[in-house]
Amino acid sequence: MNAMQHMAEYASRNQLALQHCAACNTVQYPPRELCCTCLADQLQWRASDAEGGEVLAGTLLHHSHEHAFRDTLPLRVGLVRLDPGPTVVCFLTAGCDAGTPVRVTARNDAAGRPVLTAMPSANPPVEDPPRAATATPSR
Ligand SMILES: [Zn+2]
Repeated sequence: MNAMQHMAEYASRNQLALQHCAACNTVQYPPRELCCTCLADQLQWRASDAEGGEVLAGTLLHHSHEHAFRDTLPLRVGLVRLDPGPTVVCFLTAGCDAGTPVRVTARNDAAGRPVLTAMPSANPPVEDPPRAATATPSR
């Protein structure tokens, strides 16, 4: 099982899992086979229901070559710096402007790939997060 499949397994239980390096304490994303800082292979998974973070930037997609996204356009995606360190590309729900404190969750799309979604920490919206049928934003 490769690193992304491990993350998908956690996401199938609605958990966001990040790799922590036992040698240098780096937290990394996306998952890899080796630590991106020291190349150690002693990577440990730590999972939670959500990670806190802050929106760095967001944009609105009006077009996608992925057929699965056509019904959900326009679609908000952006960069979020997670509190543990890494910056992730994820879907943004309403109210996720630059500087907004957010919580980021992981769910698998219909193809079984983990998809990250950010929502404001305060007053989370009632709406469902955007759902990708078979594709994820490019990383
Ligand atoms: Zn390391």
